[in-house]
Amino acid sequence: MQKLAQLYEGKAKRVYATEDPELLIVSYKDDATAFNGLKKGTITGKGVINNQMSNRLMARLAEAGVPNHFVRELNERETLVRRVQIVPLEVIVRNIAAGSFSKRYGVEEGVVFKAPTVEYSYKNDELGDPLLNTSHALALELATQEEIATIRSYALQVNEFLKAFWQECGVILVDFKLEFGRTSDGSIILADEISPDTCRLWDAKTHEKLDKDRFRRDLGGVEDAYQEIMRRLNAHN
Ligand code: UDP
Repeated sequence: MQKLAQLYEGKAKRVYATEDPELLIVSYKDDATAFNGLKKGTITGKGVINNQMSNRLMARLAEAGVPNHFVRELNERETLVRRVQIVPLEVIVRNIAAGSFSKRYGVEEGVVFKAPTVEYSYKNDELGDPLLNTSHALALELATQEEIATIRSYALQVNEFLKAFWQECGVILVDFKLEFGRTSDGSIILADEISPDTCRLWDAKTHEKLDKDRFRRDLGGVEDAYQEIMRRLNAHN
């Protein structure tokens, strides 16, 4: 499958048209941003890791009953995906307090929740991705009630799958962000990526951070952390 016109360039990926109007090619970059683009950098090898990790997890999720956009890995950095219209919601699931949750509610990072939380942000860089609730999303006509119910249910299913999967790799799944899309027939499927850019992943024994927080917080060892988490994934099966 050949890349045709570039349709979009985001912070971490480029998206290309293909000869099939239902399929796109996603190309993962090593570029990293944080704090709504204020902090910029490069994480060497990240594009390859995020592409391969996301594809592996998406394939497993499809088997587990979460339909998603993954079609076929084309090469180290490029993947064929189903074309969707992205629902402009960032869906965040948390098992443990960290990041903006800790800051907003004054809860120490590392506090384990009795049940996972689900929250939504309006995917809008100009507004800084503000937090919103279901009625706000409905008022803004970002999705229908039924779509939001589907999204929430899939997000919790993804959490259960990923939590168990990472546990088998000696990794704690702290929190993560998902994006969903509508296919041409109007059904909701999981899209975007699942990677150390979009998940908080801690070593189960040491609680060492093996994700993008190393970049966000200038902790050093960023490339090593991405390589280590990929090694854990590769050792899984
Ligand atoms: N996240 C993301 N993209 C965003 C915001 C958050 O992938 O634009 C992920 C982030 O990596 C973490 C989870 O969502 O795994 C929760 O992030 P949080 O709301 O704590 O925000 P942050 O502290 O990253 O600003």
